[in-house]
Amino acid sequence: MAIDQKTLDELKVMLLREKEELEKNLGRIAKPVNKAEGDYETSFEELGNDKDDNATEVDQYSQNLSVETSLEKQLQDILEALEKMEKGTYGKCENCNKDIPLERLQVNPSARVCLDC
Ligand SMILES: [Zn+2]
Repeated sequence: MAIDQKTLDELKVMLLREKEELEKNLGRIAKPVNKAEGDYETSFEELGNDKDDNATEVDQYSQNLSVETSLEKQLQDILEALEKMEKGTYGKCENCNKDIPLERLQVNPSARVCLDC
């Protein structure tokens, strides 16, 4: 691998920080189904039973759902990247298997593909 240990450690710290932040944000709108896999379920908040309440609940839910889906995806990319670090396959493009340039990883440590892909 082209990345030295020190850089790898720095990237790992970035990933762990991002992971913590994402879990915090997810925790506000969803509950974990499987935390280790970054699997969350959007919470449905019961506000009341009249028509307006129900409409607000559905609005709120669909809004949370789209936020949750996007946060969950980011979290899963991070978990994937951490797993690859363990396996020693971190920094390779998932598509063409070339090394992802370090500058790209430093901006986005959970990048899965290189710029060309
Ligand atoms: Zn590629």
